[in-house]
Amino acid sequence: MTSPVSIDIQDNIAVITMDKPPVNGLGQALRSGLQEAYQQANNNDAVNAIVIASAGKLFCGGADITEFGSKAAGAEPSLPNLLNTLEESPKPIVAAINGMALGGGFELALACDFRIALPSAKVGLPEVHLGILPGAGGTQRLPRFAGVKFALEMITSGKPAAAKKALQAGAIDRLHEDDSNFLDAAIQYAKELVENNTAPRSCAAMDVDTSDVDAEYFETFRKSIARRNRGLIAAEHCIQAVEAACELPLHEGMKKERELFTVLVNSPQSRAQRHLFFAERAATKIPGVDPKTPLRTINKVAIIGSGTMGGGIAMNFLNAGIETIILDLNAEALERGVGVIRKNYDISAKKGRMSEADVEARMGLLNQTTQYDDIADVDLVIEAVFENMDIKKAVFKTLDEVCKPGAILASNTSTLDVDEIAAATKRPEDVIGLHFFSPANVMRLLEIVRGAKTADDVLMTTLKTAQKIAKVPVVVGVCFGFVGNRMLEPYGREASRLLLEGATPAQIDRVLTTFGMAMGFCSMIDLAGVDVGYLTRQGNLDNISHDPSYGALGDKLYELERFGQKTGRGHYIYEGRDQKEDPEIVELTQQIATDLGIERREISDQEILERTIYSMINEGAQILDEGIASRSSDCDLVYTNGYGFPIGRGGPMQFADETGLDHILERLKYYQENLGQHGQFWFKPAPLLEKLVAEKQKFSQYVPQQH
Ligand code: NAD
Repeated sequence: MTSPVSIDIQDNIAVITMDKPPVNGLGQALRSGLQEAYQQANNNDAVNAIVIASAGKLFCGGADITEFGSKAAGAEPSLPNLLNTLEESPKPIVAAINGMALGGGFELALACDFRIALPSAKVGLPEVHLGILPGAGGTQRLPRFAGVKFALEMITSGKPAAAKKALQAGAIDRLHEDDSNFLDAAIQYAKELVENNTAPRSCAAMDVDTSDVDAEYFETFRKSIARRNRGLIAAEHCIQAVEAACELPLHEGMKKERELFTVLVNSPQSRAQRHLFFAERAATKIPGVDPKTPLRTINKVAIIGSGTMGGGIAMNFLNAGIETIILDLNAEALERGVGVIRKNYDISAKKGRMSEADVEARMGLLNQTTQYDDIADVDLVIEAVFENMDIKKAVFKTLDEVCKPGAILASNTSTLDVDEIAAATKRPEDVIGLHFFSPANVMRLLEIVRGAKTADDVLMTTLKTAQKIAKVPVVVGVCFGFVGNRMLEPYGREASRLLLEGATPAQIDRVLTTFGMAMGFCSMIDLAGVDVGYLTRQGNLDNISHDPSYGALGDKLYELERFGQKTGRGHYIYEGRDQKEDPEIVELTQQIATDLGIERREISDQEILERTIYSMINEGAQILDEGIASRSSDCDLVYTNGYGFPIGRGGPMQFADETGLDHILERLKYYQENLGQHGQFWFKPAPLLEKLVAEKQKFSQYVPQQH
């Protein structure tokens, strides 16, 4: 096997080149290659200085993710040891950062004595997103070169910095503008170091400059990021590591870094975050569909309906620089919708998130019309009209008549049968569901609903397009509610029922937010609209009408026109943004419970958590069994990206795997036995859950049958 590292000596400078596509992942082969090349250069008396460069477009993307969890990941030379060896080099080493240097890749550059970069390069330490910290000296070396403020921000946010910013902070020493002779410039830099007798710059001999941070700085910083972290522990460990860098010599600081790293890497949170990282990658692989399927070209998009969803969906495409035309039959609604888009962009510009020129560039890509003939040439249509089957069918019949052959026809329906919509056209193979979440320009989740006749290239093209507009796509099958809303249904059913049995909205919301949900169920319904929940139930009467307690409080609130935040009253009372408990809810729930013969009692927090979350998991098992989702991690992506499920739990199915499926099953059976008729009907364990428990398997190990 040829080494992914080569060495070439030019004018007494050793150029060590990494060549391991696609990203120079620091797997064992690259690490040993670097170690050997370095030793060769160090032992060669003709070599005065060393340049470490990349043969690819990136400098180095960091750890080799395919090695995660394997023996190779820890095999010698380990990354920390390799970097310590480079750090101690008696000959100066220059890192030639020609593109992204991320994670271990940036740590590698930091272990070199000097760094030269192209202005287009970026450097970053994104480990916090995987629930860990940079564990190869990054937390100790970066503050020594770039100061506490820059290091803390970069390490706790995981966001990369442009080379220019890194240069200003001191994380990079020199920029070279011309990418045609970048390597020559790096070699020239090394020669200058030799000519000037510049000593190698060992981090071990440097202290962190703390002159710009006062005694309170770390505490204030902690508080400032607490909200964005929502209970994730990695950022706090990153802060402690940087504190150690300020207080300890390099090698002791590195020991502390290792200790903190070890705690994190073995934590359920990091397991959950790594699970989600791999989940995103897995979600674009569709069983039975060739990943090399030729794609259709998407240059121009039409959105039908300029309401809440249509406008938000259009913004995604405008942001990605794709020409978009928005159609609404109602001219007033069209003006209003386009006005909202402009207003949203103007607000972003005012907040400094984009320039006026960006706003105009985006608006320049937007056209509007009330005529279907104007969208004849688009490559993709996304329908977002009223949620009504007859209207949707009429729209698709028209689209079939006017759109060019090969155009992809998509519906944003939340609940309707995509196959029935497709049947309104003569080209059902071109029809697909694209279920965006509200606000559609913000929420990352996109459920791609694959119809029975959807063509593979339509599926793969929409997946690619979703990534282009920065969404997290998850392919799901046709059923009421798809994955997200279908799993939400039992969760909401139990929350509503618990209110009748004696819990209060505040108790339910507290239990769920303590668990980590972004919002409690009752607050969520008040935000989304009690009326929306009511209408959804009306569309699902076949499955629920036998149970008079089902959504009974929601129905009552609907009757009282207490629609939630928009009417100032729902499960709570609203004054502006302030939410207050409403004593009338207790009276209402008492009344309904008496009418339905439901016994009221004290409800424990544990019961709330188990009945809501475990029911959701049980439905997830059923969804997997039916092949509506291709893998359990797809359900997790839906929940963490679309429903505020805590990232640190990894999604409901990962949470179940971590908790133990046997425990989940046992508790479901307990409620089945102990909640009377309600339990008997709604707490039947999913057969797949029973099967996996019997086989001592996890959800993550289950591969659904192809349907
Ligand atoms: P909306 O009422 O805000 O907007 C619908 C728009 O469609 C209106 O402007 C209306 O004039 C227009 N329209 C109606 N019939 C039309 C036709 N035949 N041709 C062209 N335009 C027509 O609705 P919304 O909330 O944006 O929902 C749109 C779709 O998105 C629905 O299918 C809904 O289920 C789905 N959805 C909504 C949400 C949400 O939170 N609002 C979330 C996900 C999906």
